Amino acid sequence: MSTAPYASGTPRPDKHDPSTLAFATQSVHVGNTIDKGTGAVRTPLVMANSYLLPEDPSTMDWSSPEGLVYTRNSGANQVNLQTKLAAIEGGEDAVAFATGVAALHSVFFTHLKSGDHVVVSNVTYDAVYRLFAELFPEKYGIEATFVDISDLDAVRDAVRPNTKLVHAETIANPTTTVADIAGLAEIAHAAGALLSVDSTWTPPPFYRPLRDGADLVVHSLTKYINGHGDAMGGVVVGARDLVDPIRHEAMVEVGGVISPFNAWMIMRGSVTLPLRLSQHLASAEKVAAYLASDPRIAYVYYPGLESHPQHETARRQFAGAGFGAMMAFAVDGDSETQNRFVNNLQVITSAVSLGHDESLIVHVGGSGRGGMENYPEPFRKYGHLRLSIGLEDADDLVADIRAALDATFPS
Ligand SMILES: *Cc1c(COP(=O)(O)O)cnc(C)c1O
Repeated sequence: MSTAPYASGTPRPDKHDPSTLAFATQSVHVGNTIDKGTGAVRTPLVMANSYLLPEDPSTMDWSSPEGLVYTRNSGANQVNLQTKLAAIEGGEDAVAFATGVAALHSVFFTHLKSGDHVVVSNVTYDAVYRLFAELFPEKYGIEATFVDISDLDAVRDAVRPNTKLVHAETIANPTTTVADIAGLAEIAHAAGALLSVDSTWTPPPFYRPLRDGADLVVHSLTKYINGHGDAMGGVVVGARDLVDPIRHEAMVEVGGVISPFNAWMIMRGSVTLPLRLSQHLASAEKVAAYLASDPRIAYVYYPGLESHPQHETARRQFAGAGFGAMMAFAVDGDSETQNRFVNNLQVITSAVSLGHDESLIVHVGGSGRGGMENYPEPFRKYGHLRLSIGLEDADDLVADIRAALDATFPS
């Protein structure tokens, strides 16, 4: 099939196999092509919905994601982003979506059918909880068992003959429960099931679940991989024979594709991922250590603290790379006290989302979140504040928290 000039772009003159390049080099170069038309060294933003057809289009498969025909099937900026994300996550193939939730849904929609059973963490992203607690059972007859994903015996016991998928978050939103990915992969594979891992809180190069046996890795690109809080996206990465059906079924036929503009933004944001991540991780350890030391803090959950229930799993699994940049805590007081503390913060912003350049805090409290009865006891007693450590100076963040505590608890 003949294609428009942008079809492959001009590859960079270096002929490296991306897998031989170091992570920082991949983050800069992979997926970027020199524009044939202008010689621009950055892939241009191609907002076109459609691409020039070949001389005889009459025999074409309109559902094919191959080549560049229609932007719901494939587009220049999506293709570049997918190439890059496959390389940095260490997978064969990747498919990008409009949001992280669309990417998660694409895995479940494609790889499950009526009568199948899923083992899923009893602490998981809201949308995933609702999909498995209500929507999939009611609409499609897909059954789910919710388990404490950090308890491998409980996971093993939950597996049934019709279990087709085990789903976990590496570090769970919002409790920071750490899943043992190699342990889960062994259980899933022994049962003939797939392991899908939402690795949004543990982006590469910090952690790569595929290396520990995960079959499919999902990211909300909205978070660390874009990193600037100004674009939404999602991706699924894994072996070609698992990702390709997702592309054909969930991308082309359900249609939740990422916009070229967001793909282009995320390509740009992801260039600095390794630099940003090392700052996020280092600052988070400092802030968590401060929170653990202040008696006005009721509790703090951060996998890097020795008091964290899965600290040893985190230490082994992340192998010295860090412990993430997300934590959950509460100040010593009722719900109104938590609000007062958050409103006293001056640097840290009260807003949802995470993994942005700015630090973000949310008073989740006890409101509405599915699975809350499974949260650790202090979360249920005090509610919780979910804190995403940004790129500000760590000492400024600590000072902001200390000043807000001083204002909340005048002596
Ligand atoms: C934010 C988030 C999602 C959802 O991503 P969207 O881009 O908002 O759809 C999924 N999983 C985790 C762990 C998240 O933090």
